[in-house]
Amino acid sequence: MSKGLLIVGEDICAEVVSSADAFTAVEAVFGAMAKGDAYNFPVIREAIGYADALYGFKSGFDKAGKTLGVKSGGYWPGNMDKGLTNHQSTIFLFDPDTGMLEALVGGNYLTAVRTAASSSVSIAHLARKDAKVLGMVGAGHQSTFQLRAAAEQRDFEKVVAWNPHPDMLPRLGAVAEELGLAFEAVTQEELGAQADVIITITSAFEPLLMKDWIKPGTHIACMGTDTKGKQEVDPELLVSATVFADEIAQSVTIGEAQHAVASGRLSDAEITPIGAVINGTHAGRSSDQQITLFDGTGVGLQDLAVASVAAREAESRGKATRIAL
Ligand code: NAD
Repeated sequence: MSKGLLIVGEDICAEVVSSADAFTAVEAVFGAMAKGDAYNFPVIREAIGYADALYGFKSGFDKAGKTLGVKSGGYWPGNMDKGLTNHQSTIFLFDPDTGMLEALVGGNYLTAVRTAASSSVSIAHLARKDAKVLGMVGAGHQSTFQLRAAAEQRDFEKVVAWNPHPDMLPRLGAVAEELGLAFEAVTQEELGAQADVIITITSAFEPLLMKDWIKPGTHIACMGTDTKGKQEVDPELLVSATVFADEIAQSVTIGEAQHAVASGRLSDAEITPIGAVINGTHAGRSSDQQITLFDGTGVGLQDLAVASVAAREAESRGKATRIAL
């Protein structure tokens, strides 16, 4: 007999899933992916020819966590004018034993928090322990989540930031101030010269950071490139850095590595799944001088992992709604 369908709205997700919860869930699923216990299904993403929207599905199955489902949604560029975020998504969780729909979970907050958890996991495992300056490239919706999650991983003292639209930077500055971190708007070159850890989270289609601007020992999390054609950093940076990814198949096709791979300067074999570092089968950073680069393309299993936490926590705290389907 079915227990019915659990509904967990956006506000409840924000209440019951913390950045630390997302970190734990995302770290575990990256580890499961590297062991072959969890896999993502092929992604569908289509320009629907209406409202300039991109719509699609990201799905997968985590046998270890018993999580099966799909995130459906996409990007509606006109939403900002309507007071809505441009990214819209909903997560559907199914019972892997019966195929029945178990939960319907708002996906907007969870997308931001699971994306921030991804770079945050990479910082935890790959950045130098003595990192003091965090460089932020990008100042849109995701950037404040990224900054908050990164700040939990190292004793940062300062944030240096650059954005192609400088008028967006004060919002990021306000979050830095709230976190007790000094904040400075800088040029791209200055950002590279100062930062020990860099997060890129823009919608760029050309390199914003060049290889020669990055100092030895830096960890870079490239988070904005999630589609063919997008690009945030110089491909030479990927050729010279030690490259890690959430999922290699996505990294080389729609992630930041796509450009270095397409020009034959980088191969799949030179990219390590971050899960291997999490599982201890790869040592991760090998010296204080090494530049490490994480290509965080965003996989469906991250969404399912945090949605599963949201469903479990909302139910146990009596905050979810149940209906018969
Ligand atoms: P947003 O629209 O709120 O902000 C866009 C950011 O990109 C701003 O910093 C803006 O100044 C900059 N930008 C816009 N057009 C640009 C251009 N042509 N060149 C360079 N920079 C440009 O978007 P957001 O929600 O903050 O998302 C930022 C990026 O992250 C998007 O590309 C989105 O697809 C990607 N994203 C990735 C994941 C993942 O898992 N990897 C998850 C969510 C979003």
